[in-house]
Amino acid sequence: MDNAATTILAAEAKRAMIPFLDNKYANPSASYEFAKENKKVIEGGRSILAKMINASPNEIIFTSGGTEGDNFAVKQVCETFGKNRKHIITSKIEHHAVLNTCKKMEEKGFKVSYIGVNKYGRINLNELEKSITKDTILISVMHANNEIGTIEQTERIGLIAKKYGVLFHVDAVQTFCHIPVDVRYMNIDLLSTSAHKFNGPKGVGFIFVREGINVGSFMDGGMQENGIRAGTSNVPGIVGMVEAAKLNYKSMAENIKREIALRNYLIRRMVTEVPGVTLNGHPIYRLPNNANFTIKGVNGMVLLVMLDLKGVCISTASACSQTSKEPSHVLKAIGLSDEDAMNTIRITLSKDISKEDIDYTVNTIKSEVAKIYKGY
Ligand code: PLP
Repeated sequence: MDNAATTILAAEAKRAMIPFLDNKYANPSASYEFAKENKKVIEGGRSILAKMINASPNEIIFTSGGTEGDNFAVKQVCETFGKNRKHIITSKIEHHAVLNTCKKMEEKGFKVSYIGVNKYGRINLNELEKSITKDTILISVMHANNEIGTIEQTERIGLIAKKYGVLFHVDAVQTFCHIPVDVRYMNIDLLSTSAHKFNGPKGVGFIFVREGINVGSFMDGGMQENGIRAGTSNVPGIVGMVEAAKLNYKSMAENIKREIALRNYLIRRMVTEVPGVTLNGHPIYRLPNNANFTIKGVNGMVLLVMLDLKGVCISTASACSQTSKEPSHVLKAIGLSDEDAMNTIRITLSKDISKEDIDYTVNTIKSEVAKIYKGY
């Protein structure tokens, strides 16, 4: 029940990877036939991924995942275009991979505007447009939030960025292969993704960089990825990612329909059967697999441990914030008090979750919450 943190590796992806962990181990940059075959495989994968977001193969750069993609986008745009113009815009609810990179850029002399959101977690577009100055080089706003699931108005932000000639980066880690992403329609210039969020392996992803945006090298070394991201290609990882993407892309419409029905069932049961529950995030524009609840008087971390003992894995905020004692920056940004933010849990489904799994989860939450209300 914590599939926003990560997902199971698809059996098909695992099967496709095995030969490349085994006898097909050649370095694809080498010049003999054994290596050229691997080069062909990763280039084929690049074309397949490009097509899924309406991009060209030369616009896809393989990375180690979402964190690298987010670092790449913010740092490379600042380094390449930030000699004289030193302003970037982001939102208050970004993942720390973007927020902490922006903080680093502030230390290097950049000014960062952190745009607020409404109570559902949607970016204030007026504030965003008004904050653009002649020094703005980048807008970085995620496609959908990993904690509360709210889907942003990405195509409208893309139009604003285009109108002012500002580059637009989108963290699509929670959305690629879950809901449609079209970089041309959405006027996106840079987009980061991560394979382990869509049943691919961990430690691999890709970033889209629109043709004509000549960002310099992020990783210096050899000429892999056109010299932009040096390092021996992660062939098994790329193969697994492509296979998982193919699988989820093909069944996306079906998955969305199924997950929305189950998620709505989960929400309905939670708000009607568990006392003191409110739903966080947008009631409609939210990820098909996401539900985020505040339960009055019930500490999220305490409930997490109680559910863990009953075999149910949930989270309180994002997986990366679990060790933080601070209330989630996302929940604070939508207006929750510190106490309510601490009394919050996130449940995220996958295409493999059944109605029975949801019933077990809700029934367990009901009985554990009742224990907490009774003082154990
Ligand atoms: N961005 C978002 C929205 C995420 O949810 C995550 C992972 O939780 C990341 C970035 C980081 O991705 P990765 O785990 O591939 O580094």
